[in-house]
Amino acid sequence: MTPGPEDLWFLPLGGCGEIGMNLNLFGTDDRWLMVDCGITFEDTVAGNQIQMPDPSFITERAEKLVGIIITHAHLDHIGALPYLAAALNATIFTTPFTARVLRPKLRERGCQARVVEVPLASSQTLGPFHVHWLPITHSTPETHALLIETSVGRILHTADWKIDAQPVVGDGFDITSWQGFREPAVNALVCDSTNALQGGHSVSEADLESGLLDHVKEASGRVAVGCFASNIARLQTLGRVAKNSGRYLCLLGRSLDSMVIAAKSAGYLTEDFDPIPAKDIGYLPPSEVMMVTTGSQGEPGAALTRLAANTHPLVELDPGDTVIFSAKAIPGNEAKIQRLITGFSAHGVRVVVAEGSNKAIHASGHPNAEELASLYTFMQPELAIPVHGELPHMEENAALAKRCGVKRQLVGKNGDLFRIAPTPSLLRNAVAVGRLAVDKRGQLSRIS
Ligand SMILES: [Zn+2]
Ligand SMILES: [Zn+2]
Repeated sequence: MTPGPEDLWFLPLGGCGEIGMNLNLFGTDDRWLMVDCGITFEDTVAGNQIQMPDPSFITERAEKLVGIIITHAHLDHIGALPYLAAALNATIFTTPFTARVLRPKLRERGCQARVVEVPLASSQTLGPFHVHWLPITHSTPETHALLIETSVGRILHTADWKIDAQPVVGDGFDITSWQGFREPAVNALVCDSTNALQGGHSVSEADLESGLLDHVKEASGRVAVGCFASNIARLQTLGRVAKNSGRYLCLLGRSLDSMVIAAKSAGYLTEDFDPIPAKDIGYLPPSEVMMVTTGSQGEPGAALTRLAANTHPLVELDPGDTVIFSAKAIPGNEAKIQRLITGFSAHGVRVVVAEGSNKAIHASGHPNAEELASLYTFMQPELAIPVHGELPHMEENAALAKRCGVKRQLVGKNGDLFRIAPTPSLLRNAVAVGRLAVDKRGQLSRIS
């Protein structure tokens, strides 16, 4: 299957019809461009397993792949590269922060792939694709949407996004900044569907500081805050909360340490963020301790899970201490998180969850219905292609596009071929897709 010079195709191998393991291909004139290459975690009888899309379609024609663009540093967008980059045999292009998160992960697996740092808001040509990197707001720094121009049409690929005027780290996103990219109308808009079923507008990252500070000030003993390590803005906010509540900040969890190193080397977390070594917290009065921890999804072995089980090597929580979940459950993790909460409560530890808090302590990184409507109304694409969601999310995203005046919508799934030019159409099951899993020895095997 080869796109001719008049064709413009979109072919998702992962992340379309599911949330996680994104792998997108764009094709024209006998060449392919990959956007993102991620993993997902699945609970199996063998335990928590890393899974990723089977990339056979593109590895079988790797010489036609002009490059791999990574839109942001989340594992559902970068996590498969350490396993697949050697077979893909193409240069990886991404922004400085994402590159600094990615490189140690590649090194850990002995992967020699070339990673090129692309300046923010720049443009580049890769074979027949001319790509404009468009900064957008999300829950990790330097996320970019992509305007992909070819001689037969233009595609706007949003990546994961929200409209946040005050993202705490980096510049706010204002849709009118895309004024210069509206004409001629984009042929297709490939768009994040995660929160399409949520009405209204997402909460701004800047609105969390006061709620978090209130909860920390109310606490008498130690405070542990669980959040996603890649949310550098949240870490910045928590640094300020620690300072303004007179507590020492410390980090518990390996992924927090590596994210902070990547963030600092890319120029973030330079003020109001001074963690003390974790080994020192045992010597401090409880009322002077604020820990930021990994494990807000109940991940086995993560800091919060160990704290709940009282098996953390550095600190034990006592009755009267407080745990704050500055995160929400990723669908599928609810039971694991509930087990954590039950574990803490059994010890007399007070638990604050985002859903039960009277002030916002967590903000999603994805657009609610109002933000999706703003994008469709402003860009007026000829065709909407919802991705990054399960079928109900994608169908609602498509319905929203229609209500905003977008004439055509194509809702499909991994392995379907979305023909954008010359005439929009969907060829179902065009390519064999499946999943690879990582076994206990770190080897890949096909599982579906
Ligand atoms: Zn994502
Ligand atoms: Zn993301």
